[in-house]
Amino acid sequence: PATQRYALVTGGNKGIGFEICRQLASEGVTVLLTARSEKRGIEAQERLKEYGLSDNIVFHQLDVLEPSSVAAVVEFVQTKFGRLDILVNNAGVFGIKLEGDVSILQEVIERDASVLYEAAGGTSEEVEFKSSGTITQTFEDGEHCVRTNYYGPKRITEALIHLLQLSDSPRIVNVSSTMGNLKILSNEWAKGVLSDEESLTEDKVDEVVQEFLNSFKEGTLESKQWPTRLSSYKVSKAALNGYTRCVAKKYPSFFINSVCPGFARTDITCNLGPLSAEEAAESPVRLALLPDGGPSGLFFYRKEVFYY
Ligand code: NDP
Repeated sequence: PATQRYALVTGGNKGIGFEICRQLASEGVTVLLTARSEKRGIEAQERLKEYGLSDNIVFHQLDVLEPSSVAAVVEFVQTKFGRLDILVNNAGVFGIKLEGDVSILQEVIERDASVLYEAAGGTSEEVEFKSSGTITQTFEDGEHCVRTNYYGPKRITEALIHLLQLSDSPRIVNVSSTMGNLKILSNEWAKGVLSDEESLTEDKVDEVVQEFLNSFKEGTLESKQWPTRLSSYKVSKAALNGYTRCVAKKYPSFFINSVCPGFARTDITCNLGPLSAEEAAESPVRLALLPDGGPSGLFFYRKEVFYY
């Protein structure tokens, strides 16, 4: 039918991505669930059959880091659907090694949330680090995180743009994080570049990411005032938000937004957090299904427009 919509979701095998697939399919959208592991993806597709959604769930392997895998999925979408209406860039990693008590992760996340709360005019108490757990990140881990969370969505978007342009109402949802908020991106130069909406370009976003990786590699993150906790994750999501705005400017007929789904119990958070994956998926799904004339180039925290 003419109203049939086609969506592609990255990292659809578990967590929030799985729920995004389930909820979009429940709304009648034909969903291409993708996963880097063929086995885990097919298992997820099987689980969705239990919800009676087998008719509109299709699976294809997709590792967002692998250009050949991306090319294969583009070919598949072209042949199978002939266009794409909705792209949800959901796949993401923290790129950290967590040892011992995992509640350290919650403490780190809460401390940054309190910084944001304060920046918004609230008063917050200093979150103490009581957990005996440790978080470490090698340069390789950090680079992998940036490549997955920032260059991944960028690569997928670029590869699918011509198929999205064939849609009457193309939508892209980039699953981001409040961790990408510029208030907690302590490097003033990067903050300045990414907050200057007028002159922001894709090259400038790349430059920020490259400078960060250079500092990481040479061991100067601290002296150059880059964030020290979850640094790659923060930079990758801040860059993803910047990229979102650049694409919104370049393609005015697109609805492209980034959204923090909220702190949810999934593998990435060691199942900590107040929200279920189902609840967290609601805001990306809402943005994917907004009626025409909706916003573009914005950053949301769940259902609310958030500041950068
Ligand atoms: P999960 O760890 O449960 O899921 C992450 C998904 O990303 C998995 O499907 C994983 O696949 C996939 N993935 C990782 N690397 C690649 C890759 N190279 N190619 C394709 N897929 C890949 O975490 P969530 O569901 O919580 O995270 C989903 C998104 O939500 C992420 O972008 C995350 O940053 C964001 N987010 C999550 C929050 C939370 O509190 N949970 C809060 C804010 C943002 P595999 O199973 O093979 O590892």
